[in-house]
Amino acid sequence: MIGLAYCDKAGRIFYDKKVEPLADGGLVREVARAELVPAPPGTVPMVLPARHPRVTKGVERRRQTLAVMLPSGYTRLLLPAYNRDAGAPALPLFGYTFACAIDETLHVAAMRTDEGEDWQPRTFARGELEALVERRVSAGTGNRVLQQLATCSLEYSCFTAQNVFLERGEAALPVSPACNARCVGCISEQEPETGVPSPQLRIAEEMAARDLARIAVHHLERVPNGIVSFGQGCEGEPLLRSIAIARAITMIRASRSNGVINLNTNGSLPSALRRCIDAGLQAVRVSLNSFRPRVYAAYYRPIGYALDDVFASIRMACDAGLRVSLNLLTHPGITDDREELEAMREFLGSVSVDMIQTRTLNIDPEWYFDTVGRPTEPTGMREAISEMRASGVRVGNFTHTH
Ligand code: SF4
Repeated sequence: MIGLAYCDKAGRIFYDKKVEPLADGGLVREVARAELVPAPPGTVPMVLPARHPRVTKGVERRRQTLAVMLPSGYTRLLLPAYNRDAGAPALPLFGYTFACAIDETLHVAAMRTDEGEDWQPRTFARGELEALVERRVSAGTGNRVLQQLATCSLEYSCFTAQNVFLERGEAALPVSPACNARCVGCISEQEPETGVPSPQLRIAEEMAARDLARIAVHHLERVPNGIVSFGQGCEGEPLLRSIAIARAITMIRASRSNGVINLNTNGSLPSALRRCIDAGLQAVRVSLNSFRPRVYAAYYRPIGYALDDVFASIRMACDAGLRVSLNLLTHPGITDDREELEAMREFLGSVSVDMIQTRTLNIDPEWYFDTVGRPTEPTGMREAISEMRASGVRVGNFTHTH
C-alpha cells in the first residue's frame, strides 16, 4: 500500500499508511508502484511551507507537504501534489520530487539513470578543503579564476570547482559574467521582484584566457583523462566570450595533448561555437528545457536568438565530430508531454548526439507551469526516457571521460 508521507510545521516527517497520496505529473493522479524506489542515500527531505498534501480523499489541511531533493545520478519522475495557501511564498530553486511511505520506508518517484563515483555526496575532514584551497590560491599568484573557484568550492560546494583543488575528474573554467538569455529559473542571477534567491552569485568579471589556460594545464598535467569545462553554474553564457575561450584552448593545447576540452553552453551563437571548434574544442553540452520553440522561449526568454540557433549549434558540433551532449532540463508533465516527445523524436532523428543528460529543473513547479503552461497529454517520465533511448541516444546525468 502506498501511504502518505508528510510533515508537521516543524518539519518532522510522519507516515500515514491509511491515506493514499496523489502526485503531480502535469496532471494530478495516483502513483504507480513502478514509479517508486526506496529513497537513495543522499536524498534530502524538505517541508513545503503553506502547502498541504493532496490525497485520494481530498486535501490534508492540517498537514504540510513533504518533498525531497534527489542525489545526482537519479531522474525525477513525479512532483508532489498539494494545495497552496493564499499568500504562500514562492519556493526557492530546488528540484521538488514526490515522496511517500511503503512499509514504513520513505520511497521517492525516481529512476537511477547514471553511475558516477565522482558525483557521490562528499565529506571532508574539518579544514581539509579550506587548506587545499588556501595553498593553491596563495601559490596561484593572483589568478582571478582560482579566486572565483575558491568561493564556488567553499560557499556553493560546486563539485567541478572543488575538482580543481582536488586535482581529479572534471574541472571548472568559468569565463563569462554576461548572458544572452534570462531564464526564469536562472541559478546565478534572479530578478529582485521574483523574491527567490539565486543559489549562486554570478561572476562579476570577464576571466582572462591566460588564467583559464593555466588552471587547465595544471589540471591536465595531474589528471591524464581529465576534462576541463568552460561554462559553469556561476556564470552567464560562455559563447559571449568565444574569443577568450579560443585563445585559452590554443594555449592549453600548446602544452598539453591529453584530456578533453569541453564547453557547457546554451548553444545560442553558432558562429561563436565555430570559433571554439576551430581552436580545438572536443566536446560540448548544450542546455535546453524543450524541443518546442514556444516552451523554450517562455523559459529561456532569449535575447537575440531562438531555438533554431540552438539546433544549428548542435548540428554543427555533430558534423564537426565533437562529443555532443544535451543538458535537458527535465520537469514531469512538460518533458513527457506527447507534443514534446514528438518534437524531441523529430529533432533527434535529424542529428546524432551522443548523450542526453536528464537534469532535474530546479524551480517552484507552479511557477514553471504558469510560465510554460500545463500539459495536455503527459505520458510519464519513464515513457520519455524510453523514447530517448529508443532514438539511440545514451541517457545519463554526468559528463563522462569515456
Ligand atoms: S543560460 Fe544560464 S546563465 Fe543564462 S540565464 Fe539561463 S541559466 Fe542563467
